[in-house]
Amino acid sequence: MPRKSSLDTTLQGREFRRRLLRWFRRHGRDLPWRRTRNPYHVLVSEVMLQQTQVSRVEGFYHRFLESYPTLESLASAPPARVREHWNGLGYYRRAANLQKLAQVVTSEHGGRLPEDPAELLRLPGIGRYTAGAVACFAFEKPTPAVDTNVARVLRRAFHPRARGSAGTRKLWETAAALQPRHGAPAWAFNQGIMELGALVCRARIARCDLCPVRTACRTGRRGAG
Ligand code: SF4
Repeated sequence: MPRKSSLDTTLQGREFRRRLLRWFRRHGRDLPWRRTRNPYHVLVSEVMLQQTQVSRVEGFYHRFLESYPTLESLASAPPARVREHWNGLGYYRRAANLQKLAQVVTSEHGGRLPEDPAELLRLPGIGRYTAGAVACFAFEKPTPAVDTNVARVLRRAFHPRARGSAGTRKLWETAAALQPRHGAPAWAFNQGIMELGALVCRARIARCDLCPVRTACRTGRRGAG
């Protein structure tokens, strides 16, 4: 787990967190996977959202869960059927890994997804981000989850020069340091920073003029966009 730094006690970190949480409460999108804490449903959404846009995932998410409402039903399905139900989402390896994961969890974990990100990381197809996201979004663990959107926001806001593996390490440390210590706020913080990256601090255009955390952002304060 990333080491906690002193960042969470700095004015910038506190202001960033406070402003982000307030903005997310008002402006966060009402997405289906934000209405659930069902670990399997959260996992399905996270796997689908890797490399696929939110608007596209929404329809597939419901249909897939209607066909495979539980981990066990996915584990025992014919792989060709699973692939058929994934048709249109692309990157079929995700579906194969998801089914493998369902089989491992069914046979080795009694059908229950582990809560610990380190254990989640050992499951097929689960990387560091997805382990953190499932631990936080399903179990409300105060665990960092740094995907491309989150990394971009943290880089611009806290470490504009962060690059390479040392930069990545720094971003994960900062994400851990900024985490609220308890469940629901940690959930909202991780959802909020992803939402900010998706809607405001976008890859091509950073809408600093509209950004709720601008006063707590190094890039935004410089007016660099
Ligand atoms: S102020 Fe600009 S660079 Fe900073 S987080 Fe907001 S949109 Fe991104």
